[in-house]
Amino acid sequence: MRKAIGANYIGSRSLTPNLGLVFQTHDLDNILVERPAVQYWLLNDETPGLMGPIDLHGTWWLIAFGVDKAKGPVNTDAIIAGAAGKRLNATVLSTDPWTARMELVDRSRDRRVFLLGDAAHLNPPFGGHGLNTGIGDAVPRVENRGPVAGLGRRWVARLLRVRTAAAARTGHRGGRSNNAALSSDLIRAAADAPAATAETARLQISQTIHEMKAAEYFSLDLGLGHQYTNSPVISDQETGKPAAEQDTWATKVRSGGRLPHVWLKPGFSTLHCVGTMFTLLGLGSADTSPFEEAADQVGVPLSTVDLRQYGLGAELGAELVLVRPDHLVAWHGASAPADTSALLRHVAGL
Ligand SMILES: Cc1cc2nc3c(=O)[nH]c(=O)nc-3n(C[C@H](O)[C@H](O)[C@H](O)COP(=O)(O)OP(=O)(O)OC[C@H]3O[C@@H](n4cnc5c(N)ncnc54)[C@H](O)[C@@H]3O)c2cc1C
Repeated sequence: MRKAIGANYIGSRSLTPNLGLVFQTHDLDNILVERPAVQYWLLNDETPGLMGPIDLHGTWWLIAFGVDKAKGPVNTDAIIAGAAGKRLNATVLSTDPWTARMELVDRSRDRRVFLLGDAAHLNPPFGGHGLNTGIGDAVPRVENRGPVAGLGRRWVARLLRVRTAAAARTGHRGGRSNNAALSSDLIRAAADAPAATAETARLQISQTIHEMKAAEYFSLDLGLGHQYTNSPVISDQETGKPAAEQDTWATKVRSGGRLPHVWLKPGFSTLHCVGTMFTLLGLGSADTSPFEEAADQVGVPLSTVDLRQYGLGAELGAELVLVRPDHLVAWHGASAPADTSALLRHVAGL
């Protein structure tokens, strides 16, 4: 399909040849009991890489960095022994050679064809930025089936175009930084010396991990904090300054950002208030009737939700919040703008 619409990957290939292994062993059952984890980093010259349990019955995955199966037969027993620090009685269930790639398509859409997931962008998968970014591409398309019927194709086409390109670029930045520090980059011979001597080397490794791996392990902002600052269907007119200069995503409403999730009562959050069309959330005492009248006049489907009782205005930094069905804030303000009809036409792409 990518070829059919004349799109091409642009970027870099063959960043690192790697070998994925899945194996079964019970020799590790008692070794890692005190430090159970879903992922272990292997900082040694024999098998630099990552490994972790797939289940609680002795099935393990292992990614060995720098192993190029294309160059000849691979000794999987030696790779597993290098990872564990001793020979294991292990049965290899599968091997999967793969190469990290860093590529983005030069175009992700042609008329009604949209490229999503790996078809549109290939990241080194560290940090869950592979499948997750693909799912991130798909979610708005499912959620926007409502507006397709209600608002027309022009709005949807604009929305999808802007969203796909921005999300892919953001995911790509994350992937690039994660691939810049693999366990093979953190190996220091001195770290394996007796504890007292190794202390300095271990502290240095710890510092490097904190500096270089934050993007991989603290990536909630990538999943939830994206913001569209150049969208033709988002309005920043209330603040008059770029949305990116506003407060952090988690606590404040930002035009072009995701509506913050705040629990209103057990099992019911701000996100549950968003309908299948535009929703106006009234967080304070500002009058919502100009929006209701303008929506009727312009023909934009709009529901209004009164959240005054929760006193969220100060916390979220807005009195009125206009939210799209994909949970993105189209506009927010202290009161309805003078020309509310123009605002609705703008955010609906009419
Ligand atoms: C070793 C490794 C580890 C990874 N770890 C993670 C991780 O921890 N977290 C994470 O988020 N991501 C991870 N990823 C990345 C993740 O696997 C991919 O990003 C994800 O699978 C992409 O999904 P997709 O649906 O876009 O593409 P694919 O999974 O490639 O699916 C495309 C499907 O289309 C089929 N197809 C292709 N051409 C045609 C055709 N002409 N007709 C019909 N069918 C066709 C293919 O056979 C395939 O089944 C990892 C990847 C690798 C290689």
